[in-house]
Amino acid sequence: MKAETLLAADGLEAGYGGVQVLWGVDIAVLERETVVLLGANGAGKTTLLKTLLGLVPAWRGAISFLGEDVTRWRTDRRVRRGLVYMSEMAVFAGMTIEENIGIGGQSLSRSALRRRTAELYDIFPALGERKRALAASLSGGQRKMLGIAKALAADPRLLIMDEPSSGLSPLFVKEVIHVLARFRARGLTLLIAEQNIKFLKLADRVYTLDGGRIGFAGTVAAMHENDALRRAYFGLR
Ligand code: ATP
Repeated sequence: MKAETLLAADGLEAGYGGVQVLWGVDIAVLERETVVLLGANGAGKTTLLKTLLGLVPAWRGAISFLGEDVTRWRTDRRVRRGLVYMSEMAVFAGMTIEENIGIGGQSLSRSALRRRTAELYDIFPALGERKRALAASLSGGQRKMLGIAKALAADPRLLIMDEPSSGLSPLFVKEVIHVLARFRARGLTLLIAEQNIKFLKLADRVYTLDGGRIGFAGTVAAMHENDALRRAYFGLR
């Protein structure tokens, strides 16, 4: 059976003021797939993710989600449909763990949010033990876990993550990858922007973004077969 296309962007162009950042970006994410968007600092990853969410307006091109053209939809409408974004900051430091999860799940009914929160505390027991602690009191790694829990509280059809490794030690990066692998195994669809190639472990497919343009699209195996990409991203001859 062919997997359904959850998200597709076609010829996307966007930028800030008069400065164009994205140049004709085509990208697709199929149901249950994990797609990693690789690119250096300033390549335009954050701009692309924000454009998919409607946080940055698309100048040209189209975005479809679950078969509907969402290009002109407001962000909150996209989120309610299941397109959920986890930014690099991910959490509100001045709020408690429980409040952050509540914000993530704000579109759920009270009873659904209660059920969802209990599930999340089962998955992240360290958060459940400290529900009333401020996010600011958590370590960087725990904060990132809270960011993931907050995003999952919205019950995403597609979770879009902006550099989940940012600010984390290698040990916590490993932990984040481990947690994401568990959700992936449960059928969660993920689009992850990263510069850390460790995330390729999770990837069904990869896009590289360079100067606001897609360079390569394909599997990790195909990336390894490409000499230029191997040198650029894996530092191997
Ligand atoms: P990083 O890993 O540093 O977040 P990135 O690949 O996510 O990099 P973007 O943040 O999308 O890249 O930035 C792409 C380009 O757009 C950069 O040249 C950046 O300076 C510019 N840019 C980003 N945000 C803005 C903004 N709010 N106003 C003007 N220019 C911006």
